[in-house]
Amino acid sequence: MYALVERLYPICRSITGDGVRRTLEIIGESIPLEVHEVPTGTQVLDWTIPKEWNIRDAYLKDASGNRVVDFGASNLHVLGYSVPVSATMSLEELRPHLHTLPDQPSLVPYRTSYYAETWGFCLSEETLAGMDEGPYEVLIDSTLEDGHLTYGEYVVPGQVPDEVIISCHTCHPSLANDNLAGIAVAVELAKSLVDPWYTYRFLFAPGTIGSITWLARNQTDRIKHGWTLACAGDRGSLTYKRSRRGSEIDQVAAHVLKDREHTILDFTPYGYDERQFCSPGFNLGVGSLTRTTYAGYPEYHTSADNLEFVSSEAMADTLAVCREIVQVLERNRRYVNLSPYGEPQLGKRGLYGSLGGRSDTKQLQMAMLWVLNLSDGDHTLLDIAERAGLPFGAMAEAAQALHDAGLLKEMA
Ligand code: ZN
Repeated sequence: MYALVERLYPICRSITGDGVRRTLEIIGESIPLEVHEVPTGTQVLDWTIPKEWNIRDAYLKDASGNRVVDFGASNLHVLGYSVPVSATMSLEELRPHLHTLPDQPSLVPYRTSYYAETWGFCLSEETLAGMDEGPYEVLIDSTLEDGHLTYGEYVVPGQVPDEVIISCHTCHPSLANDNLAGIAVAVELAKSLVDPWYTYRFLFAPGTIGSITWLARNQTDRIKHGWTLACAGDRGSLTYKRSRRGSEIDQVAAHVLKDREHTILDFTPYGYDERQFCSPGFNLGVGSLTRTTYAGYPEYHTSADNLEFVSSEAMADTLAVCREIVQVLERNRRYVNLSPYGEPQLGKRGLYGSLGGRSDTKQLQMAMLWVLNLSDGDHTLLDIAERAGLPFGAMAEAAQALHDAGLLKEMA
């Protein structure tokens, strides 16, 4: 995962353009992505696909010809979606186009202007303090013209058409945690799914406009669960933000996280693309998994969100939690006890004491009794596990044994 982050880090991405295509190409080396190109001007819900932006070079050169600010050194130096410019300007004339972080003087901010045509440079306050009155040669060699918005998706077919969607934003340039770490974790999670129960859909799309485009072009009634995955590689603990409507994924994520240091947040209409999936018209059961939350760390949207800021260990931990969520979700079914009048006789079916010698025999027997008692078609296995205070895995194993013995019927 770290190697993928390293490889994607230098690429200049935005909501459209060749940086996104190159990113999807690289992801496509690990998982077979279906890439979609949606033309500029296409209406998507209340939005319109913008012009496509591409950039080759940009700089501010001083009188001696030194690049004081250089896109080649970091793509964060250019305001995303800057229109082309070629001019000579004094520092005074330049100032309205310069963006710094006065409170973090050594860092370069990440800024964009997607929907208002302008141009600008981002630089550290320290660089700005060292600049004389100029004049400066100003160049942004970019194009903003009709083209496409590009997104990719990968579907792992399940035994049922009901879907779990995992969505990552692909629009940020050289920022490691937000969201290359999320992309890397999603790719590994996708690779790990073998013959799952649910159908899993991985969406790699630019933030906001990308998920809106996907929602405009697809049927959403098959999506039963999901989460957005971002900021997956910093050293902070995990944060899960609930879906708007409250849903099974919220219960599953809370259950998986309960033995770790973590934070659970209620839904807010801000953050990542859960905003779109949880807009009232769709109202999907989609939460958001991050480590430190959106805008919750000083490195957020600055040049300090770099390769040192993310760690392999943190990404591995995020992946482990994602896989546990999948494991619980996959087996979290509802059953009906087919012998609900008195306890069924487990011994004659080989279920009682058949697990002799195992240290968890007692736990499994308790799990069977709980599953039989609460399998009335209303309770899921996770509901039962939580009520019984027993591990979900024991419930799933008990349910399987009871089902095999003909004592349970699975609800559709
Ligand atoms: Zn961001």
